[in-house]
Amino acid sequence: MGRLRRSRTHRAQRDVHRASRTRARTKDLDQIQLIDLDPKNRAKLEAQALDFEKPGLAQHYCVECAKYFETDSALTSHWRSKVHKRRCKQLKEPAYTIEEAERAAGLGREGKRTSGAANGAHNELGAETRVMMEVEVSESN
Ligand SMILES: [Zn+2]
Repeated sequence: MGRLRRSRTHRAQRDVHRASRTRARTKDLDQIQLIDLDPKNRAKLEAQALDFEKPGLAQHYCVECAKYFETDSALTSHWRSKVHKRRCKQLKEPAYTIEEAERAAGLGREGKRTSGAANGAHNELGAETRVMMEVEVSESN
């Protein structure tokens, strides 16, 4: 009788479904970068009203990680932790914008597909469209 079981049947079982779950969904990095890290929004988030639905009555909130903590000491130890530092590093990188997604899909606003011309046009457009996007975002809130 041959072998009943192959070797190497165990693979790294990464939970790919976890990323698509909505139960514990937190904000996306670009939302945090463009909205929450703005000083006035940040102050608002750090001084939230008592909310009985949220952990710790919404009194201990980490803006970078979009996460509530039960106690003040939990929050301060979180600030010293690896997850938080890694998150801060990720947030320092430029946000993934709609403009960038369109450019990647070849749907730039100038409608040119030649890469050289498109790059030049984007440099001019970049700052302007980013400001426009921020305005749209803050109006929707
Ligand atoms: Zn954090």
